[in-house]
Amino acid sequence: MILTAGGFAGQAVSRQIKLNKLKNDFIATVSHELKTPLASMRVLVDTLLEGNYDDQKQVTEYLRLTSKENERLSRLIDNFLTFSRMERNKQAFDIASVSPAEIANVAAEAMQAKFEKDKVKFSLNISKPLPMINADKDAIVTVLVNLLDNAYKYTGDDKCIELRVFAEDNYVCFLVTDNGIGMTRRQIKRIFDRFYQVDHSLSRQAGGCGLGLSIVKFIVDAHKGKITVESKPGKGSEFTIRVPCYGGDRK
Ligand code: ADP
Repeated sequence: MILTAGGFAGQAVSRQIKLNKLKNDFIATVSHELKTPLASMRVLVDTLLEGNYDDQKQVTEYLRLTSKENERLSRLIDNFLTFSRMERNKQAFDIASVSPAEIANVAAEAMQAKFEKDKVKFSLNISKPLPMINADKDAIVTVLVNLLDNAYKYTGDDKCIELRVFAEDNYVCFLVTDNGIGMTRRQIKRIFDRFYQVDHSLSRQAGGCGLGLSIVKFIVDAHKGKITVESKPGKGSEFTIRVPCYGGDRK
């Protein structure tokens, strides 16, 4: 194909227009998402300040809700910051030789309180021995926490979640399985897109903002890894992350 100078200029302009639209969409989404928990916290705190409560039990309940909204706000801000750093391509990964078992244990621990509170049937299965991987430990923990959190969010009352770690070919595989709502093939194609949510109101209610899986993909790509998804509506989902291992040490 022969491109003229005009062609190049045209392409650059349309790229700029696309980029500006993306930025505007991003700012609009961020503002909208941040406003919701802030507004809820304000109502809760104002109600308490005005003395509009019946008893200590109600005060405790309002404080609990305020704390939950606060937690949601922090999570949103963390996601936005990771995402905007990613967009500027400045996510500096701190690569070292790390134990996949340790990564899985840290991620499972991060979810422990939430899982215990909701009586989630969670199993963690780590094959032994496993090769070490060259990876940014915190980044892969983020990947697993995002996947485990999605498994939690998109599953009904009787939650069964599993994290399996094993070696296959030249990769260490992290597999997260749930018995949740599942997705169609068409939906799976879009879940790694920024801000895409299959059911916007359900995801928002669950505390999502549609950035988790785009962050997961960015991190896995930066590690030259692979992601696969198997899912069926009503039957649950299985996300597999493959991170290349570099032989040698086994732990
Ligand atoms: P969110 O913050 O909305 O959870 P993600 O980027 O993590 O955003 O996921 C994008 C969408 O993919 C979710 O809104 C949800 O519709 C779908 N999804 C992700 N994980 C699962 C899962 N384990 N089961 C069913 N649907 C899922």
